[in-house]
Amino acid sequence: MTSLTRYLDSDFPSVVPTVCKTDSGISYLESPGVVIVSVPYVNIAGLKGFLEGFPADLGFSDYLKDPVRLTPAEELCKAAGQLCYLSFGPGRSMNADAGKYFQNIMESGHGSVLEHANFSMLWWGISRSLTHELVRHRAGFGFSQVSQRYVGGKTLRFIERPEFQTDKHLHNLFLRRVDRTYKEYEEITDYLMEKQKGGAELLSADRKTDLRKKVRQAARALLPNETEGAVMVTANVRAWRHFFNMRVSEHAEVEIRRVGFEAFRCLSVFAPLLFGDFEQVHLSDGTHGLKTLYPKV
Ligand SMILES: Cc1cc2nc3c(=O)[nH]c(=O)nc-3n(C[C@H](O)[C@H](O)[C@H](O)COP(=O)(O)OP(=O)(O)OC[C@H]3O[C@@H](n4cnc5c(N)ncnc54)[C@H](O)[C@@H]3O)c2cc1C
Repeated sequence: MTSLTRYLDSDFPSVVPTVCKTDSGISYLESPGVVIVSVPYVNIAGLKGFLEGFPADLGFSDYLKDPVRLTPAEELCKAAGQLCYLSFGPGRSMNADAGKYFQNIMESGHGSVLEHANFSMLWWGISRSLTHELVRHRAGFGFSQVSQRYVGGKTLRFIERPEFQTDKHLHNLFLRRVDRTYKEYEEITDYLMEKQKGGAELLSADRKTDLRKKVRQAARALLPNETEGAVMVTANVRAWRHFFNMRVSEHAEVEIRRVGFEAFRCLSVFAPLLFGDFEQVHLSDGTHGLKTLYPKV
């Protein structure tokens, strides 16, 4: 398992893989990179005006004096849940009991309150086959992915599957294939550019960026599933939980399971109470999975 390193200028957890090179200098990665780039920024104190508008004997204002602090994501989801029953008075669940409060949310399937907290991550060192599976997740997710229609050349990188890394023959085949693919891709790109300059109609466009796309969108046809597909992925806690349940399970594909597991580890730092019910399980193939009693909230 890759160790978590910390950025010098922040406490955001990340996993940074090494970039390897073939003999001819083509880049490839053997494991995913994960970094949290955005977390909730919460202003619970902003509830003051709202709470003070109720009769003083209800004691709603004291809601903001809870001596126990939660993480922003937890504070946000708890306040959202407590708004539903206006549970701001002395009989409410205090922050010290937030673990029990969220367990109740999970048990009752009241997962919509978990939709308020969003986290964004950059994932890299992952293949296009992984991103193809990832973008099947619709509810609560947002994606921005490197465009193969626009980007190529020196930024093109490949992903070596774990099965290939541990087998000399498969590893050598991978290295050869990567070199060959890169070379062919460059050859086709150069050839198409020449044709474009010569006025080929199918490759023509009015704008410079479109000209580039016309070439790359044709050349990418030969790129394999093992091409890297970096992606910025944003999801709310409810959606992340569903993703972990589906994709960090023993039934999921090993590559997506691995990046999902790293993402879980990073997110757990920021919202332990929202993900704490997931148990880490060791699977027979040597990888990690996650299991929870509350798979669908
Ligand atoms: C092990 C595994 C194998 C798979 N194999 C295949 C395969 O062979 N072929 C294939 O095509 N896909 C396959 N998938 C993908 C799978 O079918 C889902 O597309 C993917 O897991 C996203 O799940 P989801 O729709 O629950 O998630 P999301 O899109 O994130 O949706 C979350 C939840 O929101 C609700 N929801 C979302 N959209 C709708 C809607 N339009 N209507 C009603 N409710 C909605 C559902 O309750 C859903 O579970 C596989 C997935 C896994 C984990």
